[in-house]
Amino acid sequence: MNHVTHLECSACASTYPPGQLYNVCDSCGKPLFVRYDLDRAAKALDRAALATRRADMWRYRELLPVAGDSDIVSLGEGWTPLLRAGRLGDSLGLSELYIKDESLNPTQSFKARGMSTAVSMAKQLGARRLAAPSAGNAGGALAAYAARAGLKAFLFMPLDTPRANVVECEQLGASVTLIDGLITDCGAEVARRKDAEGWFDVSTLKEPYRVEGKKTLGYELAEAFGWTLPEVIVYPTGGGTGLVGMWKAFDEMQAMGWIDERRPRMVSVQAEGCAPIVRAFESGASFAEPVADAVTVASGLRVPKAIGDFLILDAIRASGGTAIAVSDAALLDAVKEIGVAEGLFVAPEGAACVPALRKLMEMGKVGAGDRVVMFNTGAGVKYIEAFGGQQEAAGQRDRN
Ligand SMILES: *Cc1c(COP(=O)(O)O)cnc(C)c1O
Repeated sequence: MNHVTHLECSACASTYPPGQLYNVCDSCGKPLFVRYDLDRAAKALDRAALATRRADMWRYRELLPVAGDSDIVSLGEGWTPLLRAGRLGDSLGLSELYIKDESLNPTQSFKARGMSTAVSMAKQLGARRLAAPSAGNAGGALAAYAARAGLKAFLFMPLDTPRANVVECEQLGASVTLIDGLITDCGAEVARRKDAEGWFDVSTLKEPYRVEGKKTLGYELAEAFGWTLPEVIVYPTGGGTGLVGMWKAFDEMQAMGWIDERRPRMVSVQAEGCAPIVRAFESGASFAEPVADAVTVASGLRVPKAIGDFLILDAIRASGGTAIAVSDAALLDAVKEIGVAEGLFVAPEGAACVPALRKLMEMGKVGAGDRVVMFNTGAGVKYIEAFGGQQEAAGQRDRN
């Protein structure tokens, strides 16, 4: 059932045998990718056979790393709705706008996809104590999948993480440490203590399997569009795992003969208060400079330095896409705009796609007839403080 051949560094191409726990590449410190025998996978799985498969991301079982079906740690993640957004599209001047609604995943965000594969593999390979930094949704997802697997989760979250995320992690039995700093400071704390504590670090792109779960976004889009891809994908980008994962999925599908060489233009959306990828894209840099004082209510976008920055930038450039920043005021307004137009209470990160699209239409970078997919990556209900004004914000500070 498993067609993994090896792991390969995404930067220096060093190779590693499967069947062991890894974090980043030993030689250069960059992310490792899982490689498959795609000829064999294509023979084992005819894409027409997907029609009868389970309605979650494990329908693409042959392209996922877990050894046996009994090793899968699942809560029903993936296979989320791809909703045609007619009214919102009209107001943007787009004839074919779709929202991939990832808020219907377990723990209400697309972090579930990555944590399902990461926790499945960590368990299979013998890890018992899993640690990660999280600005919000990754924490809830790790806590849930660790509990499901019977493993222990240790989470490090910034003090001002949305309260729903912190409560969720606690109620799922994780150990939560709040840190007066950013997600990068939380990541540093995991790195500093993990050897002494016997933790396996499941920070995104610092272990090879979260991106494998997130790549299923790409498989689902292709399957939903009848093995074609849309012209434009708009992705709210923090660590960039979903964007990098989709890009990997497109290459895999082409190698298997499932899609042709055409690719969507990949658009990274960030918040003005934390836009390292946008700055790097605009300056022509291959890597992003860390952002010193990152601020945005869209906590999933508050990633001052992404280890996969070069992979995000490569995908954007190779696709003829772009990167664009929007203000917090604009993305918060868009939450209500999407809510009123389409009946979805989206996460601020997902909402950011709308002001971004408006700018891209004005700039002529997206055309009225393009098929555009934007991602709602999470649920608005987890960000109550962001909509509540001063009183709730003060309560949150007191609690912490
Ligand atoms: C984590 C997160 C993001 C960013 O995802 P990446 O793949 O890390 O770029 C966007 N939105 C929400 C709601 C998130 O939780």
